[in-house]
Amino acid sequence: MYLYDTLSRRKERFIPGDADRVTVYVCGPTVYSYAHIGNARPAVVFDVLVRLLRHEYENVFYARNITDIDDKINTVAERAGIPISEVAAGFTEAYHADLDALGVLAPDVEPRVTETMPRIIEMIQALIDKGAAYEADRHVLFHVPAFERYGELSHRDRKEMVAGARVEVASYKKDPADFVLWKPSTGQQPGWESPWGYGRPGWHIECSSMIETHLGTTIDIHGGGSDLIFPHHENENAQSACAHGGQRFCRYWVHNGFVNVNSEKMSKSVGNILLVKDLLKETPGEAVRLALIGAHYRAPLEWTDESLDQARRRLDGLYQSLRDLEDVRAARDGYETLMTGFIKELENDLNTPKALAELSALAHSANTTRGDAERGRLKAAMLAAGGLLGLLRQNPEQWFAGDGSGLDVGAIEALIAERSQARKDKNFARADKIRDELRDIGVEIEDSPDGARWRKRS
Ligand SMILES: [Zn+2]
Repeated sequence: MYLYDTLSRRKERFIPGDADRVTVYVCGPTVYSYAHIGNARPAVVFDVLVRLLRHEYENVFYARNITDIDDKINTVAERAGIPISEVAAGFTEAYHADLDALGVLAPDVEPRVTETMPRIIEMIQALIDKGAAYEADRHVLFHVPAFERYGELSHRDRKEMVAGARVEVASYKKDPADFVLWKPSTGQQPGWESPWGYGRPGWHIECSSMIETHLGTTIDIHGGGSDLIFPHHENENAQSACAHGGQRFCRYWVHNGFVNVNSEKMSKSVGNILLVKDLLKETPGEAVRLALIGAHYRAPLEWTDESLDQARRRLDGLYQSLRDLEDVRAARDGYETLMTGFIKELENDLNTPKALAELSALAHSANTTRGDAERGRLKAAMLAAGGLLGLLRQNPEQWFAGDGSGLDVGAIEALIAERSQARKDKNFARADKIRDELRDIGVEIEDSPDGARWRKRS
């Protein structure tokens, strides 16, 4: 398996530190609003990566955090006049519901900042003790010159880094690039007692502490959106390496690209932010998921008004093939060789567009193959490949009935039976009328030698 590593800037062969325990950490959401497709993309991409790792390694440990302390959460709470914890809990729940609908499996552990505080304080103290951090004006700052390799991940020189941090250089900083590990809290701000007074952690230290707590000092894969490379991941890398005597923090840094909507960057000012929960009102989660993995994860995802329709049609085709395979049982073995091309694409830096093409090729073979034994193997290969992508998890009938469409499946089937009887009775006027009625509620009938089938019109 090969992965592109942001640090070495090369596609590298993946070799875990311990093949008996492969460790993955992905930066999760800051829970102050609903998830948009830019938040959903890493969740889905790394879900596919973890599914692939689980296919190849017996024991994969996956952590994705929840950032439940952040000034943005405080602002939302203040405006709504409710406790911070309520804002965080509400949006955490909404995030889970969105990801569930997208078929994203829960990580093995989902640590929260509020639950990690003793470890965060310990790590900050360790950095002070090692001379990599200092206390100033009730803050604790990481001293960037203490880590010679600073900048190795984002490949930036010092001038860019200071400009990139985009914060006014506070007078208490020894170096303009130094960043906050701990800051004082006042009034309504959440806070904890610490050796440096009542306060709360800066953003970056939480991930370093959670990784140390749950995964260890060196992990195999650290993932996130490419917007996190600097400063967040650069700072995590510096903190963790310094806290652990210069030890390597991550073997592979994996970052996904941006999402553009109709050729523009998603932003509040353009007003083109697409929330997952809104898309799910009109589109099955599986189609949203397919649209999110339709491009290679490192490339920008060009989302257009057509994206969901295209994804839905593609799934219609795949489910139709599975529906045509209804009469054969998925083979228990002998199907893996049919998946070779598919697996090869996923193992090549998670090339999901090409893997999807391989899945379509399996469906095409199934459509044109006669013998039941081979069809059974093709069915098994399609289901296994779909499973690795988190697709084709439904029964085809369920898919064509449409989830959350509000269609009454029983009533539709009764009408179809009535239409079949009308046709048998040569009452074609009645049969056509039923067909039109069904079309009006978005149901398409397809006549086949085995009787009528129906699908929800896409
Ligand atoms: Zn993080």
